[in-house]
Amino acid sequence: MSLLTEKKNGFLTLTDDQVAEADNFCEGYKYFLDESKTEREAVDYVIKAAEAKGFVPFDYDTEYKAGDKIYLNNRGKSICLAVIGKNGAKNGVKISAAHIDSPRLDLKPIPLYEKNDTAMFKTHYYGGIRKYQWVAMPIAMHGVFAKKDGTVEKVRIGEDESDPVFCITDLLPHLAQEQVTKTLGAAFTGEDLNITVGSRPVRIEDEKEKNLFKKNVMTILNDKYGITEDDFLSAEIEFVPAFKARDIGFDRSLIGSYGHDDRVCAYPALQAIFNCGIPESTCITVLTDKEETGSDGNTGLNADYLRYFVTDLAEKEGFKGRHVLSKSMCLSADVTAAFDPNYPSAFEANNSAYLNYGVGVSKYTGSRGKGGTTDANAEFVAKVRKIFDDAGAIWQMAELGRVDLGGGGTVAKYIANMDVDVIDVGVPVQSMHSPFEIVSKIDVYEAYVAFKAFFESK
Ligand code: MN
Ligand code: MN
Repeated sequence: MSLLTEKKNGFLTLTDDQVAEADNFCEGYKYFLDESKTEREAVDYVIKAAEAKGFVPFDYDTEYKAGDKIYLNNRGKSICLAVIGKNGAKNGVKISAAHIDSPRLDLKPIPLYEKNDTAMFKTHYYGGIRKYQWVAMPIAMHGVFAKKDGTVEKVRIGEDESDPVFCITDLLPHLAQEQVTKTLGAAFTGEDLNITVGSRPVRIEDEKEKNLFKKNVMTILNDKYGITEDDFLSAEIEFVPAFKARDIGFDRSLIGSYGHDDRVCAYPALQAIFNCGIPESTCITVLTDKEETGSDGNTGLNADYLRYFVTDLAEKEGFKGRHVLSKSMCLSADVTAAFDPNYPSAFEANNSAYLNYGVGVSKYTGSRGKGGTTDANAEFVAKVRKIFDDAGAIWQMAELGRVDLGGGGTVAKYIANMDVDVIDVGVPVQSMHSPFEIVSKIDVYEAYVAFKAFFESK
């Protein structure tokens, strides 16, 4: 027992074999990142991986026993996975909750227009983006068109090397004299984030015809997906960075990618439920949608789908849902900000998370005097400390940035409001919410060690 709190770079504690294991774990993570750039793609990936591990769709009328593996697909955009424990839900369940939506550019319902011989898409950004970061770089088109006949066309353009990509233009520095005098918020507005999608007109005999650039785009989309412009009305099309996850640094210690927030917690939480054996209490990994817009909507965690799932499991064993919830524990698995040497004044050094110092634990998030957060009970924090320490997990206590500089929230409060003990545990990220976020491979792996230890604890 050391008298004083010690903060230490995780690399100094880990053996070479453990570092190699972390690096290896992250190869799978990078693949997941590239395959799952939207919540829908993440759910598709998860179902495929889960079924390969023996998970089957949850059925209320089926009897389950210890070790059974089930999943509940919520509208293809969020998912609960459970492994039934030896004691079932009797003593409460253990939940790891991460989100699989990330900040991006959505299309408006009527997105296509043409201007000055260019075909363009209007966007409505999703989540907290810094708008200037989304111009002048390749972006890819992902999503679905839901047609009136009930069929759904999946779209993914810009990820294959042979695909075209898309782009939002930026002003040349030569003509930016006025723009550079504006504040960042005023210089880049939401209505300026229009995507270039074509510049050739359709060839038509009648020269009086209009909208030839729009028509050319719709002709191509109609050929490929059988859609008309009206089908954009019932579509969810999301534009995301077109590049893949890459190692960063000479030592390859870090990963740069779009969407670490929060796939960097979703992937370890998924692997933890895959590898938790037959736990004492039933364990659940929930991967949710809509966190980046405040968790509202029926695929977000401010909805009741997780409560209903736990209640169903409880009822099947003859317990009341609320009694099970009140004895349950949850790791709200979401990222925290990693200290950035380029911006030290945004952080308070003692209470910041650092890259490579392990998974971050945040007792509370929120802003302006802990507004809008759950503040984990000290007794529960002690329990979690013990679980992580006993398992040898490398972790660090972390607060997101300097007091009153800003702040953030997670799904923790929505789960806490169900009468569950919750704490935020997640991987530290630099350049969070940017198109190219950075995490440490050691921290990703330690998130897995921590989540697995939580599931396996008594
Ligand atoms: Mn997040
Ligand atoms: Mn976020």
